[in-house]
Amino acid sequence: MSVEHKAQALAIHCIDFRFQDQLEEDLKRKGLIGQFDRIAWPGASKDFTVVGNAAKLSILLHNPNQILIYEHEDCGAYGSNNSLSSHRKNAYKLKDFLIKENPLLKVYTLFVTFEGIKEI
Ligand SMILES: [Zn+2]
Repeated sequence: MSVEHKAQALAIHCIDFRFQDQLEEDLKRKGLIGQFDRIAWPGASKDFTVVGNAAKLSILLHNPNQILIYEHEDCGAYGSNNSLSSHRKNAYKLKDFLIKENPLLKVYTLFVTFEGIKEI
């Protein structure tokens, strides 16, 4: 694999426009702008099949060192069951799956709120 095609990270997040500025700021703070693959899909880790398959491709093609899973509050894709524990459950399921794909991966599960970003 050529060095040019190795990504520093893969960012997985929802499509919701209200949180994009915060996401970009976080990725910028981490020095990842221009260095990461991105999967934007409604509900982030909620759609395990679609997002898991897309993430597998990123790992195969670009071998990222870390994966950032950004869940967010008030997510329309979750409907009425928008609890933190639902987001955490889905994010952890995806995290476990990704670590099985590559045990060297660092996978961070994050939760974006209108006030900021925290680990979950
Ligand atoms: Zn959402």
